[in-house]
Amino acid sequence: MKTPMLSRRYVPTSLKISSDMIKVGKVQHPRPFEERMKDYRGTYKCSKCNKSHFSVVSYWELTEDQDPNMIEKIIGQEFSDQKISSRYEYYNRSMKTKILNRIDQLLTTEQKTVTPKTNQSPSNEDC
Ligand SMILES: [Zn+2]
Repeated sequence: MKTPMLSRRYVPTSLKISSDMIKVGKVQHPRPFEERMKDYRGTYKCSKCNKSHFSVVSYWELTEDQDPNMIEKIIGQEFSDQKISSRYEYYNRSMKTKILNRIDQLLTTEQKTVTPKTNQSPSNEDC
């Protein structure tokens, strides 16, 4: 992002986002990733040139028993001092590699520490 943009478009009090920040976002299952990208393109639209200045650094597809909320929470706790604001999932860009590595780690080697999400899908219930 080249110019500061609002984290919530048309909400003047929302956080101003710049290229010094990275966001740790998530897509709620079963929403397609591409739909979330449309949101982002609309949100991070530059007020000067009306283009969206953001790029996706990395993304992961989680399995059924991996909980994106738990990942988000752990990252939020471990990198709390690098958060731009405690209310938003934006971090100092300098933390990019560390955060990416930590997410990788949480999704592979430390899977067991991630609390499985409660299965609320009726089709998976025992009869
Ligand atoms: Zn622009």
